[in-house]
Amino acid sequence: MINPFHLLDAIKPSGIQIKYILINNMENLADKKQLFMAAAIEEAKIAYANDEIPIGAVIVKDDKIIAKGCNRNRELNNPVKHAEIICIEEASRVLNNERLIDCELYVTKEPCAMCSGAIVHARIKRVIIGAEDEKYGACGTVLNVCGNKALNHVPDVEFGVLREEASLLLKAFFKGKRY
Ligand SMILES: [Zn+2]
Repeated sequence: MINPFHLLDAIKPSGIQIKYILINNMENLADKKQLFMAAAIEEAKIAYANDEIPIGAVIVKDDKIIAKGCNRNRELNNPVKHAEIICIEEASRVLNNERLIDCELYVTKEPCAMCSGAIVHARIKRVIIGAEDEKYGACGTVLNVCGNKALNHVPDVEFGVLREEASLLLKAFFKGKRY
């Protein structure tokens, strides 16, 4: 398979040097999961540029992205505005439906308990995750909200799609913040 990713250096206004991931020849991608995760990473880059924790997400239905978003907590002074919540709200508007039947959520980092709860309530079919979250992950790493068979709806969960690329911005962000 052709590697669709080129890593280029980029300098942020903060002076932190990061690797930007550019998508090339997307139509040649054999793996749709990588394509959609790359779109989520593009969203995470927007968060990074806005000095937000760089997590991005997209929601896909019938192989089309119907919603995308990134963390906007600081911008909106709102602790619930995680990328996944923003995406779920947008997809619900687009589909004019509170339930996102047959939708897939791609997110660069494992959803927290709040977002995992929203994913279950939205009846999202599958969650595809870049990197695990050792502190807040609620898809099996710290808690198991997504994938908990005691709940009414159990989305499929898959880890590790573009794990390294998805982690890149997070590493750069937290290195710069030193926390
Ligand atoms: Zn969350």
